[in-house]
Amino acid sequence: MAEIVIMVTGSSGMVGHGIQLALEEDKKPNEKWIFLSSKDADLRDREATKLLFEKYKPTHVVHLAAKVGGLFNNMEYNCDFYTVNNQMNSVVLDLCKECKVQKAVSSLSTCIFPDKITYPIDETMLHNGPPHFSNYGYSYAKRMIDVNNYVYNDQYGCQFTSIIPCNVFGPHDNFNLTEGHMMAALIHKAYLAERDDQPFVIWGTGKPLRQFIYSVDLGRLIIWVLREYPEIEPIILAVDEEDEISIRDVGELVIKAFGYKGEIVHDISKSDGQFKKTASNAKLRKYLPDFKFTSTKQAIEETVDWFRKNYETARK
Ligand code: NAP
Ligand code: GDP
Repeated sequence: MAEIVIMVTGSSGMVGHGIQLALEEDKKPNEKWIFLSSKDADLRDREATKLLFEKYKPTHVVHLAAKVGGLFNNMEYNCDFYTVNNQMNSVVLDLCKECKVQKAVSSLSTCIFPDKITYPIDETMLHNGPPHFSNYGYSYAKRMIDVNNYVYNDQYGCQFTSIIPCNVFGPHDNFNLTEGHMMAALIHKAYLAERDDQPFVIWGTGKPLRQFIYSVDLGRLIIWVLREYPEIEPIILAVDEEDEISIRDVGELVIKAFGYKGEIVHDISKSDGQFKKTASNAKLRKYLPDFKFTSTKQAIEETVDWFRKNYETARK
């Protein structure tokens, strides 16, 4: 069997760790995985990034590296989210083409779909209107990955594709209280509420709905996409629609995992962001009808356990 060299950008982050955990149960002898972080190169820097391609000679690339943040971080830094991500994606995909990488898989997100849309969202709707104003910088940069994938395929025959995960959480997330995504921020807040005997504060009304995928499940699915998924068109990687859950219910699962019995307060001066972004996983189910997702409850318990054990060193 020919050796496959898979270079994963951005693998020091949450999703990269999800792949590494998933690989522990699904290794193949002909696959060599290279896990990179920004310490290996700033992917905005073409020359430094080219040296990585020359050093590792990847046959396959999983491009996860990105500037990533929760709703409030996006609202404040739309320009940075646009420029940093656009620069990295252009450099990485162009080098994939130049270095004749056989397959590249990049990550988009369900939060980049048009704001005004019919539900459930599917893969064909990505460019059907402007994204939500709160994260339009991130959204347009991510949408351009899809455009890149098609033009590199049309003109050069490249096999580049992308995944569209729903909200992700798990170990190694960014648990920063203001920058982080909701799940990580709520886990950190619940930790502090329990430790300091303070109220547990959920921002916004708690009414918006989200689908959550555990980072280890996402890792398993990314490995499958890399090995098997044949299309250029993106594939939504999300739990079933009936597993969508409100922010309030997530908050309750989080405090239950901590055994916290204090007061829950809503700070309604904070934005609710998008009300929902319900995504269809029909395409995923067509390919993998029997894939079993970890329940949100179990995934929260495992992440809370990880956060407690790694509190000193966790990103926060
Ligand atoms: P994360 O934990 O913040 O990790 C980001 C990764 O990108 C880190 O490894 C970081 O390296 C690297 N990186 C950032 N800027 C870089 C630069 N200029 N040069 C090189 N590397 C750089 O993010 P994540 O949550 O794992 O997200 C991974 C992918 O999944 C992203 O493409 C994101 O858009 C996508 N995604 C995430 C979610 C979610 O809910 N989190 C949902 C849908 C899609 P260092 O550690 O060295 O800084
Ligand atoms: P989104 O899913 O892309 O909108 O991003 P987030 O993961 O940041 O989720 C934002 C939603 O969670 C909004 O409805 C917020 O009002 C709500 N939320 C509740 N508490 C928090 C918190 O502490 N941090 C964040 N980022 N969002 C919170």
